[in-house]
Amino acid sequence: MREVICIVCPKGCHLHVSQNAETGEYEVRGATCDRGMDYGINEVTNPVRVLTSTVKVAGSNLVRCPVRTNGSIPKGKIFDCMEEINRVLLEAPVQVGDVVIADIAGTGIELIATRSVDAV
Ligand code: SF4
Repeated sequence: MREVICIVCPKGCHLHVSQNAETGEYEVRGATCDRGMDYGINEVTNPVRVLTSTVKVAGSNLVRCPVRTNGSIPKGKIFDCMEEINRVLLEAPVQVGDVVIADIAGTGIELIATRSVDAV
């Protein structure tokens, strides 16, 4: 059995996820909604996260631009993603929604800017 805290909403339910040895099906106790049931099973079978961070930007009064992935990435790819993010140097101006990395760490997911950055 795995204990997991659901992060889908601020309630933070404590989930207990176990697998039936005979059927292979998962059981989630402690979830108070269907989204928590899905989260609990995904967290033990294929955990994913939306990654938020910042990247360096040149030619602006801001030195970093906030970014996020536009989809969920496998937790096991987060360090690979951060290595790519740390190598980025954007040139201002940047528009919110601009694609910063098209296929981050080979996940097929885009990294996008979450704010606009004006040039000086
Ligand atoms: S189980 Fe449902 S109510 Fe509880 S934290 Fe997850 S999403 Fe929120």
